[in-house]
Amino acid sequence: MSEAMSYDGGCHCGRVRFTTVANLSSVIACNCSICTKRGLLLTFVPASRFTLHSGEDGLVDYQFGAHRIHHLFCATCGVESFARGTAPDGSEMRAVNVRCLDGVDVAALTPTPFNGKDL
Ligand SMILES: [Zn+2]
Repeated sequence: MSEAMSYDGGCHCGRVRFTTVANLSSVIACNCSICTKRGLLLTFVPASRFTLHSGEDGLVDYQFGAHRIHHLFCATCGVESFARGTAPDGSEMRAVNVRCLDGVDVAALTPTPFNGKDL
């Protein structure tokens, strides 16, 4: 699983659906306040590698702290399948919740701990 592959994913109810090209050898388990509560396992991709197919009108934008990241959750089922943000160099990024990708065995991944709590 060391190569970038195309994955379909989305929220629980199916309103939000997307395709992304991601490398799942690079997954982080962050200990910040929202990742802890939501159980997010994230992989980061450039916005050009993320295509939202449906659900834009159903996304609720939640921001906190420094307001750098748009945590988007589905208004129908409440699942955050991805977030929008910008990299330190200013480029548009997507943080994809690996738990929301179709057919991915999360137990087979080796997430890297990330200390987001102190950022
Ligand atoms: Zn949903």
